[in-house]
Amino acid sequence: MVQTDRTQDVRVRRSHSTARTCVGCRSRDDRSSLLRVVAVWNEQEHQLVAHPDPRRRLPGRGAWLHPTPECLELAVRRRAFARALRVKAPLDTSRVRAHVLEEQQAVVGGSQEPSEHATESG
Ligand SMILES: [Zn+2]
Repeated sequence: MVQTDRTQDVRVRRSHSTARTCVGCRSRDDRSSLLRVVAVWNEQEHQLVAHPDPRRRLPGRGAWLHPTPECLELAVRRRAFARALRVKAPLDTSRVRAHVLEEQQAVVGGSQEPSEHATESG
């Protein structure tokens, strides 16, 4: 005999831990649709840089961002990364930018190739 007691729904503790706030637009979203960004020390440049962490593996404090140029712009303008990551100097976000642009191209571009050299002649 299997007793199925479903009178107590578990809706009370629904995914409370997966929601994160985007540092760009400040809206909450599931962390699976946000990009994690951490601050890492760059030896060559001798400064902290914002580093994309799409696999959410890097240790330390993370900032969450929609991987879109719009949210990145907002975050950069407000220096939200530095604030979220608790660093004093503004962070170099070029790596995050590159990652976001790559994501965008993967979504939008599809199979399209940039054709700088016109292969179609005539
Ligand atoms: Zn956002």
